[in-house]
Amino acid sequence: MNNHTQIYTQAQITERVEEMAKEITDSYPASKPLLAVCVIKGAVIFYADLVKAIKDRDVRFGFVAASSYYNSEGGRMQSTGIVNMKYSSIDESEIVGAEVLIVEDIIDTGRTLKALKDYFTAKGANTVKIATLLNKPDCRVVDIDPDYTAFTLEGNPYIIGYGLDNAQQFRNLDGVYKIN
Ligand code: 5GP
Repeated sequence: MNNHTQIYTQAQITERVEEMAKEITDSYPASKPLLAVCVIKGAVIFYADLVKAIKDRDVRFGFVAASSYYNSEGGRMQSTGIVNMKYSSIDESEIVGAEVLIVEDIIDTGRTLKALKDYFTAKGANTVKIATLLNKPDCRVVDIDPDYTAFTLEGNPYIIGYGLDNAQQFRNLDGVYKIN
């Protein structure tokens, strides 16, 4: 894979995920369940590692597919700004009064997470927080910031591996890579 460069190894990711999980554990009361929402497909691997590392909390699972529509322009995917909730495993009754933690792979323009955060807030969640593996703050178009971030990236690299794809390939790569 000479057109991909590894930027984080599995060991580096594991270390950060464990630190994040501790921070998350400490900031939620033990007395209430936490509804951890995985944004599929990209966050699946990060989600699995993160929820396992959250100790002594009643963690409930939820899965949503909500994505910005992307166009392929000059070989790169560009956000069109339209966000669609394509799937949700979560009953609306589960959201009312819940502590919701949205778990995302990467924040780029921020549109997907803004839409998701607004959705859970509108459905009556008590709190809605965001945990992301990667954050690209230089690419932000809407005003949204994650509460927990594993790694912050400068500029606009295109990332694959550890759940993230390029045209559905490379999700199973061990570690995070950037396309050169
Ligand atoms: P946003 O709504 O923040 O622009 O888009 C977030 C979504 O865009 C991510 O969940 C991911 O699916 C996709 N995305 C944004 N940047 C990248 C990237 O560098 N690599 C990959 N594989 N997907 C990305």
